[in-house]
Amino acid sequence: MHFCIVGAGFSGAVIARRLAEAGHTVLVVDERAHIAGNCHTERDAATGIMLHRYGPHIFHTADREVWDFVNRFTRMMPYVNRVKAISGGAVYSLPVNLHTINQVFGTTMGPAEARDFIAAQARRDIVEPANFEEQALSMVGERLYRAFFRGYTRKQWGLDPTELPASILKRLPLRFNYDDNYFAHPFQGMPEEGYTEIVRRILDVPGVELRLGCRFEDIGGDFAHVFYSGPLDRFFGYRLGRLGYRTLDFEEIRAEGDFQGTAVLNYCDEAVPWTRISEHKHFAPWEAGRFDGTVCFREYSRLCGAADIPYYPIRLVGEKRMLSDYVALARQARNVSFVGRLGTYRYLDMDVTIREAMDAAGMTLARLREGLAPPPFFLDPLGGDGAAPAAARPAPIPASPLRDAPEPSPAVHGRLKEAAHQ
Ligand SMILES: Cc1cc2nc3c(=O)[nH]c(=O)nc-3n(C[C@H](O)[C@H](O)[C@H](O)COP(=O)(O)OP(=O)(O)OC[C@H]3O[C@@H](n4cnc5c(N)ncnc54)[C@H](O)[C@@H]3O)c2cc1C
Repeated sequence: MHFCIVGAGFSGAVIARRLAEAGHTVLVVDERAHIAGNCHTERDAATGIMLHRYGPHIFHTADREVWDFVNRFTRMMPYVNRVKAISGGAVYSLPVNLHTINQVFGTTMGPAEARDFIAAQARRDIVEPANFEEQALSMVGERLYRAFFRGYTRKQWGLDPTELPASILKRLPLRFNYDDNYFAHPFQGMPEEGYTEIVRRILDVPGVELRLGCRFEDIGGDFAHVFYSGPLDRFFGYRLGRLGYRTLDFEEIRAEGDFQGTAVLNYCDEAVPWTRISEHKHFAPWEAGRFDGTVCFREYSRLCGAADIPYYPIRLVGEKRMLSDYVALARQARNVSFVGRLGTYRYLDMDVTIREAMDAAGMTLARLREGLAPPPFFLDPLGGDGAAPAAARPAPIPASPLRDAPEPSPAVHGRLKEAAHQ
């Protein structure tokens, strides 16, 4: 069968490979001039430093199969994400750990003492937190909330924490030891030659044709099915309105030597307009010493306009209502499955993206064997939270798997059934 895949990010690339390996042909289109979607990396022409063009990406996962999959296409170099934060004129370590707590309160507490101390700081009068602010206050108290969460959240989301749901802070990273590894996953690393090279190798399989600089809207073609990893609302011509996103502006800084001494420095104070500065040579510590110069990016968050790149789905009540209407439309559409972060309007880390793409391809092949069409969604985009958490750095909030995949329309069903037996 002949498929079309819209988007050459991890979602599209993994599905394309799996389908091609099963003997199908696949046309992958992407309107950008490069592959790898938002994970795109390239060497800076002036310095040779590997730049993460759409913001820093650190690979981390608890999924052994995904880790093994990625390692088939690259050498993963050891990398541990250690984030520092500036708040009120001092530098702290994130996520909030024993070092942070002792620094903030000027103490030398051990784990048990600190646990009791933070419990005493927490606002016990808030029994059922009604919003993000109350949730944070009920967990860490006023001082830590103001130092690390309030200003950063207001900058990241452009909203007061009292307007954000409490659910965003369900899993506040708070450690009562000196572990400052930002992620708790057992596998973590950075690809030796960048993410774009991984995606290039994933797509390098007989049966896959790649067209860059090509909008799905502009191509014709008779495809048995389309896997669409572009924005869900765009597929329908925004006819119900635009789903809300935050976008990012990156301000480049070039300097000699070492600019900030670490890869990521968060700025928690609201008075500082940027959220963080990332210095990209520190994402590749095995080669950082080779470069005399350095390239950093100041990151600013704002509401996404029509001409901007959508980064973080907002997913508040209004957006979820519109999403639910788009999902209803999508369930009536023929011959198309919506995948990936934009197709399902969820924040997805790379490992979750790859896992979902593998599962989507597996489910597609299983259904084709039975003469059935792939479903419009492989997961319920309305399930789970799906928004990036408001504090510190985004971390995954997986959506719940869809138990009953909706049946395809009879027309698609018949067409695919025929094609599956060719
Ligand atoms: C700032 C930021 C930092 C992040 N950091 C991390 C991190 O540290 N670790 C981590 O695991 N994850 C991170 N992520 C998440 C990661 O970027 C996503 O998991 C990943 O990009 C999802 O891949 P995708 O293929 O679903 O989407 P994308 O990468 O967005 O790919 C979709 C592609 O579709 C193309 N497209 C869309 N519509 C059309 C159309 N109509 N026609 C043609 N082409 C189209 C786009 O050009 C794009 O290339 C981060 C995300 C952001 C925003």
